[in-house]
Amino acid sequence: MDYSNLPIFATADVVVCGGGTAGAFAAKAAADQGKDVLIIEQFGSLGGTATNGLVLPIMHTHIPENPQCSYISKIVHERMQAIGAANETGRNFDPLMLKVVLETICDEAGVRMLFHTFIADVLVVDGKIDAVVVANKSGLGLIKGKIFIDGTGDGDICVRAGAEYNKGNPDLNGKNQPISLRYIVSNVDTEALGKFIHETIEKTGKNYGSSYHDGQVYLAVCAGDKWTFAELFDEAIANGDLHEDDKAYWQGFVVTGRPNCVAFNNPEFFDETDATDPDVLTKTQIKGKQRILRQMQFYKKYFKGFENAYVSDIAAMVGIRESRNIVTEYVLSASDLIRRVKFDDMFCQSNYPVDIHGKVLKCENLGEPVDDGKPWYEIPYRSLGVKGIDNLFITGRCLGAEFLAQSSLRVQHSVRASGEAAGIAASIALDNNILPKEVDGVTVRNIMIEKGADFVL
Ligand SMILES: Cc1cc2nc3c(=O)[nH]c(=O)nc-3n(C[C@H](O)[C@H](O)[C@H](O)COP(=O)(O)OP(=O)(O)OC[C@H]3O[C@@H](n4cnc5c(N)ncnc54)[C@H](O)[C@@H]3O)c2cc1C
Repeated sequence: MDYSNLPIFATADVVVCGGGTAGAFAAKAAADQGKDVLIIEQFGSLGGTATNGLVLPIMHTHIPENPQCSYISKIVHERMQAIGAANETGRNFDPLMLKVVLETICDEAGVRMLFHTFIADVLVVDGKIDAVVVANKSGLGLIKGKIFIDGTGDGDICVRAGAEYNKGNPDLNGKNQPISLRYIVSNVDTEALGKFIHETIEKTGKNYGSSYHDGQVYLAVCAGDKWTFAELFDEAIANGDLHEDDKAYWQGFVVTGRPNCVAFNNPEFFDETDATDPDVLTKTQIKGKQRILRQMQFYKKYFKGFENAYVSDIAAMVGIRESRNIVTEYVLSASDLIRRVKFDDMFCQSNYPVDIHGKVLKCENLGEPVDDGKPWYEIPYRSLGVKGIDNLFITGRCLGAEFLAQSSLRVQHSVRASGEAAGIAASIALDNNILPKEVDGVTVRNIMIEKGADFVL
């Protein structure tokens, strides 16, 4: 299509597409380097899956001392703690307040934010993106830039620009990981719930997947015959109050900064999981809300502590674990991850395990990790450089990785680091008039470190 006659809505040195975790971190990092940055987001706030998808907590890296490969993570943590919206480790947080903090730090850094704007296409000239084509209340228009950073989570910009990508589990004809619609229940009597958890453990003699200490509730479905609430779920299914899928994945925990709230990491959908299909997203929103009401009735009837509770929040965004993965200068393989390969140009270290959900998606025989005394894998800078498009970075959960490797690096720790690295690299490319793929990943990491990021070196 010929977009050249569309009006130019805006121009920036760095255009960040998608304002999720990776996008927000990329925008802040590039602006901290003195660049003119514009971030475009379809919803009305930053944070994406972590805020509008209600996804908490931030997963631990499973590396001793939990090194944060991001200086912005530390800033976010300080700001969140200052308003009572994150616990001491920063891992549990209030998703609503994270929106405010991300927007504030971007605003202070001089990032221009454009919300309620959907990026529908791109204008490519001579192997470079010249502009993205957006739709908003002003109609259709172009946003021009020198460097673009794709933070859409699905690689929308890369795909529209013609980049190659992979999708889903190659062993299951490209089936994606399950998707979820998360929710928060408020006015829970957590003490009564905690007592009920302890009573059930005592009654059943089963103590897996449920705990209560010092006001901290943890609930989770658990495979095997030791799961505390297995009989309760089975009884509810037999009575027609729950469906089998409600039992296939279920997880809940308290939310820092919101007393008497429990956030649920479900319902989960296992069959139709293609997040790039708008019909799937629509159905998940509709069916998900119906399942949430069913689960709420279940808590009220079978648990204690939910007598006066109510659903206070349902995610505006469907929870997407994985959709497309873009082919980059280097694609992190499953073998790299399992063998814990180290890269000179790495920008992130993690030992978070392979985490594939689903009734049929479990992967077996993954091999043994190599014991080199450094129990973590690394993500190279080259996995952010989109192959074939000269001025485009891919960040976040859809950076260059195979399905199995993605199942680990999709967590917020690595997504944050990827945005930060891309933002800094964009600035270096502009300063030196070079392409993203010509930027030295070691220099990128050194700037991250100078600004306060932690690595095990
Ligand atoms: C159900 C679920 C549970 C999870 N649990 C955990 C957990 O416990 N701990 C953990 O650390 N991680 C967890 N994760 C993983 C992690 O939360 C996500 O992978 C991560 O937040 C993704 O960040 P992102 O920036 O890559 O993408 P997103 O946060 O999804 O950001 C993409 C942004 O781009 C916008 N966008 C997309 N397309 C367009 C477009 N065309 N135009 C304009 N805007 C667009 C979106 O609105 C969104 O704001 C979970 C994920 C899910 C789905």
